[in-house]
Amino acid sequence: MKTRKFTTYLLLAFMTATMLAGCGKTTTDTTIELTMAPTSSETTMPTETTSETSTFTTYTLEEYKSAGVNELNSVPVLMYHRVYGMTNAETEYTGGNVDKDGYNRTSEAFEADLRSYYQQGYRMMRLTDFVDGYIDVPFGYSPLILTFDDGIRDVVLQGWNGDGTPIFDPTCAIGILEKIKAEYPDYNVTATFFLNATLFGNSTEDDHKVMKWMVDNGYDIGNHTYDHVKLGGCSADEIEKQVGSMYKVLDSIIPGQYVNIIALPYGSPESMSADNPQYSKILSGTYDGFSYTTKAALLCAWTRSYSPFVRDYDNTAIRRIRGYDNNGKDWDIQMNFEQLNQGKRYISDGDPNTIVFPEADNASGTWLKNTYGHQVITY
Ligand SMILES: [Zn+2]
Repeated sequence: MKTRKFTTYLLLAFMTATMLAGCGKTTTDTTIELTMAPTSSETTMPTETTSETSTFTTYTLEEYKSAGVNELNSVPVLMYHRVYGMTNAETEYTGGNVDKDGYNRTSEAFEADLRSYYQQGYRMMRLTDFVDGYIDVPFGYSPLILTFDDGIRDVVLQGWNGDGTPIFDPTCAIGILEKIKAEYPDYNVTATFFLNATLFGNSTEDDHKVMKWMVDNGYDIGNHTYDHVKLGGCSADEIEKQVGSMYKVLDSIIPGQYVNIIALPYGSPESMSADNPQYSKILSGTYDGFSYTTKAALLCAWTRSYSPFVRDYDNTAIRRIRGYDNNGKDWDIQMNFEQLNQGKRYISDGDPNTIVFPEADNASGTWLKNTYGHQVITY
């Protein structure tokens, strides 16, 4: 007699982020200097949600507390550019920096970065999910988001296998990501690559094929403007051309499979204030008959991003950390992760459909702002 096989299905409700196109006012870091919750006598269990329709484990308030679960805390969104096949000893700059300002990184340093984030308890997630307020990271772990701007040298192709899969230089960004993916299956390796019209170098047919492979293999591709233009100060028409024509290029190569997110070249404009109505063209417009919308914009780098659930998070000005070394100073990787690890990091409750944090962190009642329809649990 055949055994009956039961399959359970889980319908994940994805809430689309509401555009917050208002004033992206800069605030100081003091707003995220939050104290931990005082010991609470609360022993009530969170609402029981475990059933045959849910795959997420429910934890007790005590378990949240002992793991330090806090989903109002900050998330590192790393900004990298080019990864060069070099050792750190081969550069004349600090650590793994390939240039003076550390925009480009050696392959040795980049690989070490990835191992270090893993060992510190970070697990990767897609930027597009973060923008949608959907953070799916295991209980007790912290989300990590990787981004690459400009495309150049992120993909160095050595050829194609007989089955049509690409052969990457093992020292380019994607070569290293694939190596780490094989080594740490629970790391959820993923990254978003922000491209200009040159794509991964020369806008060749190979670039197109690689882009198709990437979106089929867990990576995302977004918009970095057609000509790598500083949009701050541009006219509405120029912005519409730079943003719209790049979306059009992406749509012609990987239709419907790119992310509607823009990494602002030079991090400009820093704010899409109502005083500059032309910046609304970054968020929506029509160029050459092609209509587009942008659901989030990324700034250039210095520090960690706010949680998408809190008041000061602005999806049109998401902060990033520059992936560079400077002996623990000037917002380098070391400085940022030291701060994150000193009580500032987002620690997941393991369920993307609930938001869990210490009651005291929202004592004002205004710090939690965007719930994306999720259930809120405090301890
Ligand atoms: Zn750039």
